[in-house]
Amino acid sequence: MIHFDRVTKRYPGGFEALTEVSFKLGRGEMAFLTGHSGAGKSTLLKLIMLMERPNKGQIFVGGQNLDRFSRGQIPYFRRHVGVVFQNHQLLFDRTVFDNVALPLEIAGVAPREIGRRVRAALDKVGLLKKEKVFPITLSGGEQQRVGIARAVVNKPPVLLADEPTGNLDPELSEEIMKLFQQFNQVGVTVLIASHDLALISHMHHRVIRLDHGQLQLG
Ligand code: ADP
Repeated sequence: MIHFDRVTKRYPGGFEALTEVSFKLGRGEMAFLTGHSGAGKSTLLKLIMLMERPNKGQIFVGGQNLDRFSRGQIPYFRRHVGVVFQNHQLLFDRTVFDNVALPLEIAGVAPREIGRRVRAALDKVGLLKKEKVFPITLSGGEQQRVGIARAVVNKPPVLLADEPTGNLDPELSEEIMKLFQQFNQVGVTVLIASHDLALISHMHHRVIRLDHGQLQLG
């Protein structure tokens, strides 16, 4: 589902964040991406969601070469890749419902269909009863679950997360990881960047390690 073929990313200024990175993540697989701060984890995720472009090498998502997507096609491509951020990037002047509905509104989905899909997504993260409240009234764990509902509302085949439990205590972190696991169990390909090694070791999934921009084998 995700295939990196000798991908190198250099930022303006010359810093090489990723060097000749190659790996494959199969359809329906779930993996963690680990490594020290600055190892290149966020950069790798940004390349998959077309927020950055590689300098060398090729990236395939769902068999499609990302080189082929022009700037104008990026919004269309993003519907196939759900993304969860550490700080969840919710809009605090909108209700939970409206936050989750946002990607569907942008995609031009009909209002009745939006209602149905938003409630299905909120149900999956256990927040159906909170659709009318504002995110500020929710706990950190609940806010992160709203972020996850928003990421999956388009039913993307790929779900990426960048330190999704960075601000949460161990118990809540485990709950959030179990949610990702549930999406994986219904066929979603999941890649989660995290430096929480204790949590990762509990989960028994594949681990992809980066060290100074290079993939560590084994
Ligand atoms: P991680 O997510 O593992 O902490 P990142 O991918 O964020 O690592 O960063 C990898 C390296 O690339 C770091 O040294 C970081 O400073 C650098 N970097 C990240 N983004 C940029 C940018 N937009 N411009 C220049 N350097 C960057």
